[in-house]
Amino acid sequence: MTELTQGFAALGVNPLIIEALDEMGFEEPSPIQAAAIPLLLEGKDLVGQAQTGTGKTAAFAIPLLQRLDPEEPRPQVLVLAPTRELALQVADEFGKIGKRLRVRELAVYGGQPIERQIKALRAGVSVVIGTPGRIMDHLERRTLKLDQIRAFVLDEADEMLSMGFIEDIEEIIGHLPAERQTICFSATMPEPILRITERYTRTPARISLGGRGIAAPPAIDQAYFEIRERDKVEALTRIVDHEAISRAIVFCRTKRECDELATALQARGYLAEAIHGDLNQVQRNRVLARFKEGQVELLIATDVAARGLDVENVTHVINYDIAQSPESHVHRIGRTGRIGREGMAFTLIHPREFRHLKLIERATQARIQRRSVPTATDVAERALDLLGERIDSLVTGGAGQESRFMDLAARLLEEHEPDRLVAALVAAMAENRGAAGPETGRLGSGPVPEGHDFPNTGAEPGYVRLFMNIGARHRVTPADFVRTIARKADISGGLIGAIDIYDDFTFVEVPKEVARAVLDAMEHASIQGRGIHAEPARPGH
Ligand code: AMP
Repeated sequence: MTELTQGFAALGVNPLIIEALDEMGFEEPSPIQAAAIPLLLEGKDLVGQAQTGTGKTAAFAIPLLQRLDPEEPRPQVLVLAPTRELALQVADEFGKIGKRLRVRELAVYGGQPIERQIKALRAGVSVVIGTPGRIMDHLERRTLKLDQIRAFVLDEADEMLSMGFIEDIEEIIGHLPAERQTICFSATMPEPILRITERYTRTPARISLGGRGIAAPPAIDQAYFEIRERDKVEALTRIVDHEAISRAIVFCRTKRECDELATALQARGYLAEAIHGDLNQVQRNRVLARFKEGQVELLIATDVAARGLDVENVTHVINYDIAQSPESHVHRIGRTGRIGREGMAFTLIHPREFRHLKLIERATQARIQRRSVPTATDVAERALDLLGERIDSLVTGGAGQESRFMDLAARLLEEHEPDRLVAALVAAMAENRGAAGPETGRLGSGPVPEGHDFPNTGAEPGYVRLFMNIGARHRVTPADFVRTIARKADISGGLIGAIDIYDDFTFVEVPKEVARAVLDAMEHASIQGRGIHAEPARPGH
């Protein structure tokens, strides 16, 4: 058990489950879990108002798993869920939390061959999670026995109501033993659901989230983006590029997700690092120092790790995963816009989390505007704008005033139309900085011609894989490479491709157009105080 999962221990959760939660990357109970787990462990009935995104599934899965009788071969827990998708998710969560208890769980839903489910039920399962229609099917065929059910959960009851399942639900309840624990979770409590909870629960405890008002700080501009799970990383990188974000805290739900996201971002060339409860004090301080110095631009954090962080001038807070409660949302976004400055807070949500977002919006009396994820073209246009700004500041700053540049400029101006000349120079700069448009950038990258200058180094097409004689043993991180290469070779960090760090050496992929410049620049570079030798990798590595 890590120090941080003690929150679960204090609720009375058993060590085998805590180990599993730790493995899942949970650091502390969510508010709904803190409220529900002790009650459910006592066997109480519960009516909870909570939606996806709050951790409601684990709030009932943890205590129900803990109360299972391992000797009983017949189903002891029945969960009704409105859709196949939700049934599968709930089953997955039971499976992970119960990993060390050797519990068998089964999702039964329409659309899957019923024979397979019958076989699985016959083999013995402790927890059945099903959609009402398919559960009715099994009851009619007598392939599901409910006489040993000790706990019954109605998940997303209002959804089931609006899908017309109310009669099925009542019929299913009629098959359950009277002596049981009954739990109902619903985002809203319409009359028919209230009636069901009154009729079928016994003096239930009631919990709801976000009843109290907690105002969000007014100087923070908030927006949300609705995206599918698998598009999240891509969406995040586009938002970061488009907004030219260079100092943000990105919140994830679990330690695991923090690590995975940091790695995914590093591989795409972002200066990102994770901070969470598994880091020791030294590692934590190191990451923080690097964030403060700007060597890390995106700090990927859990709520626990971000608590008490003393960092200033954070321009953006990004909720990569939505906060589990309005309080925690306010806490998170309070990390930006300090000392009278405007801050921005972005929240990425799955469509299923929309209701939870609305609840946060209401409870915090804030306006969270909908935005669409920038397209690759938007990002490229924005990169060009930024390039324009950089050129403006170079000119006003008096760059290139030495006579050798001025002489060349005069000659070029004589030979070419000025606008064509400037356009060509801008295009060349854009190429170097990854701002040349969606065709050449990493986002939505089209085919890139194979390199001729370098032998095959085993890199992605269009890239050259470079070997560098420094690795994990020297405590280097991908961000070290990105930063050093970007600075020394004067290219955008976003251009750098995959970085594979081994114990003694590292492979870094860079676009072939800049590979020579990177090799030359690295001859005079050092990382962590060590000089670097770089050379094209040999294929097969
Ligand atoms: P739910 O609201 O039950 O749909 O859960 C949303 C997501 O939060 C799921 O991916 C859960 O695995 C995750 N989750 C639940 N409880 C916690 C927790 N205490 N810490 C971190 N993540 C959690």
